Amino acid sequence: MVKANILKLKERISYICSKINQDPSSITIVAVSKGRAPSQIEEALVAGITDIGENKVQEAIAKYNDMRYAICDMPIRWHMVGHLQTNKVKDAVRIFDLIQSVDSIRLAQEIDKQAAKINKIQDILIEVKTSGEATKFGLDPRAAVDAIKEIIKLKNVNLKGLMTIAPLADNPEMSRPYFRMLRKLRDGVNAISDKRYAISELSMGMTDDFEVAIEEGATMLRIGRAIFE
Ligand SMILES: *Cc1c(COP(=O)(O)O)cnc(C)c1O
Repeated sequence: MVKANILKLKERISYICSKINQDPSSITIVAVSKGRAPSQIEEALVAGITDIGENKVQEAIAKYNDMRYAICDMPIRWHMVGHLQTNKVKDAVRIFDLIQSVDSIRLAQEIDKQAAKINKIQDILIEVKTSGEATKFGLDPRAAVDAIKEIIKLKNVNLKGLMTIAPLADNPEMSRPYFRMLRKLRDGVNAISDKRYAISELSMGMTDDFEVAIEEGATMLRIGRAIFE
């Protein structure tokens, strides 16, 4: 079932890409596997998924230890997509290839410190709270540019781009303004002439709104239910 789901998902991605003249292979599918069994994740890997997203460090470590050798020769890229507490950073930098949910300068500084201890340059995305919802994590869009200027100075952190989560809605079109805001923010950062600020990734779009996200320039989709249910 996971395999069929992935085939269908890829067809939908290709269809949208063909409409906007984009190469579907330029979009990374991150299979968000929180709460799913390792056997389901294995099915996804066999079906060609290379990127796995988790939202809790403890759960991710258990799966990482379990899966590391599950499919030999198949490197898995692990993504942290949930809120990261400072006291979990040490464990997080050990296993994650990309921490997508950096929502404060303080967290970025802690990542820098822990990554330096293990001689790692940690790839990160900054999570932006495009919706302004009080219940969500993420940097205020107005504060994001200044935060980026601080974070870019950190030696053991490599800022790759931005991430956002649109508010829950019945209609995927409702997500469009939030995705568009994220793209404009990235383009604004890239317009700063200092090339150190160049960022490319836009992680946006989930099961219910990934098609709109692609239209708005997503480079990474975080998909749970459309793959595992
Ligand atoms: C669970 C989760 C997803 C995937 O959501 P679906 O709607 O199941 O595709 C994406 N991003 C984050 C941050 C999540 O926690």
